[in-house]
Amino acid sequence: LQHLETKIENKVSKDFPTVKFLNYKNRKRILVTGGAGFVGSHLVDRLMLAGHEVIVVDNFFTGRKRNVEHWVGHENFELVHHDIVRPLYLEVDEIYHLASPASPPHYMLNPVKTIKTNTLGTINILGLAKRVGAKVLIASTSEVYGDPNEHPQSETYWGHVNPIGPRACYDEGKRVAETLSYAYMRQEGVSVRVARIFNTFGPRMHMNDGRVVSNFILQALQNDSITIYGSGKQTRSFQYVSDLVDGLVALMASNYTQPINIGNPVEHTIEEFALIIKDLVGTNSKIVELAAVEDDPQRRRPDISRAKKYLNWEPKVPLAEGLKTTIMYFAKELQKTKHSQRN
Ligand code: NAD
Ligand code: UDP
Ligand code: UDP
Repeated sequence: LQHLETKIENKVSKDFPTVKFLNYKNRKRILVTGGAGFVGSHLVDRLMLAGHEVIVVDNFFTGRKRNVEHWVGHENFELVHHDIVRPLYLEVDEIYHLASPASPPHYMLNPVKTIKTNTLGTINILGLAKRVGAKVLIASTSEVYGDPNEHPQSETYWGHVNPIGPRACYDEGKRVAETLSYAYMRQEGVSVRVARIFNTFGPRMHMNDGRVVSNFILQALQNDSITIYGSGKQTRSFQYVSDLVDGLVALMASNYTQPINIGNPVEHTIEEFALIIKDLVGTNSKIVELAAVEDDPQRRRPDISRAKKYLNWEPKVPLAEGLKTTIMYFAKELQKTKHSQRN
């Protein structure tokens, strides 16, 4: 893990010759939509280091060129500024479809755009996959289960989503994206993979995405109050980004076409999570309780038996280890911000 991180940090651009070149038969042309975002950029690193040709399509709504800049100029890499709500014509073998805002404050900022991205955008990607015969993996979410009545959540659970609440643009958008995927599979023979991704964290997360991991780490690093929304008894299960990337790559390579949960089943209340971060950062921050947010899912933990059985996948990185790497990343980012404010 550290090794990969350091390698990327040392600007792979200076190190291009170390990237393996696959023989023509094994090398694929791979499109990653949303590839300049948090998860997408880690996936791009993995695919590039494996020697594939990678095209990133991103409109930079929540993503940043900085996340992939170490690949710009590499002959196997292409960065395309494009909004997937508009049609796009490319020739590829595989598509990882990740383009969509992911954090509640981001997806609620422009709910109509979030719906368009997940519906019209997904139709374009599936239309492209159909035309070129590419395999397509859709980044779905644990939010398709809504505020679940079943715990832990297995893929057979149909969910409990408020269709008109503030989270609906994302939850229902992703549910339609799944529906579209299976409609294209049945009607057009498109080869689809559906990953239901649970809460993920790691370096390159957006500093101001308002999510619990980034908020708590930033608050702890700056000795500000750690803000718990509601009682703090609600739970989440957090996975480190390298585990997610392993899961996505394994799913793409598999023959499994039903939805599959990719997440870490270790569950914590948000209150416990605040204490874990406070302890790891070693801060004096107070923990304060603010108003609960509307429609906040109360319990969330993936049942990952399917992923274990069909992908031979399970998460490897313990929470504390992933958090330490992420805390270091955020500390560096804060220093950079302070430095640029001084100059
Ligand atoms: P992110 O916001 O960092 O990345 C999303 C990327 O998509 C950004 O680079 C953004 O600019 C791009 N994008 C958004 N709308 C677009 C559009 N219309 N056209 C082109 N590009 C567009 O988020 P992330 O955390 O990396 O999430 C990636 C995917 O994984 C998303 O589909 C998200 O729903 C899913 N997911 C993430 C999590 C998580 O915990 N991070 C959990 C469940 C699902
Ligand atoms: N599409 C695209 N790129 C392609 C092929 C299709 O963006 O390479 C878009 C196309 O504009 C259409 C959508 O994907 O709006 C769905 O395509 P499909 O072929 O399923 O539908 P149709 O074109 O028949 O409406
Ligand atoms: N949360 C919190 N304080 C914060 C940010 C989030 O208590 O500063 C809570 C939020 O109410 C939710 C959980 O942490 O119960 C996870 O929120 P996040 O926005 O990270 O992701 P979600 O899983 O809700 O999409």
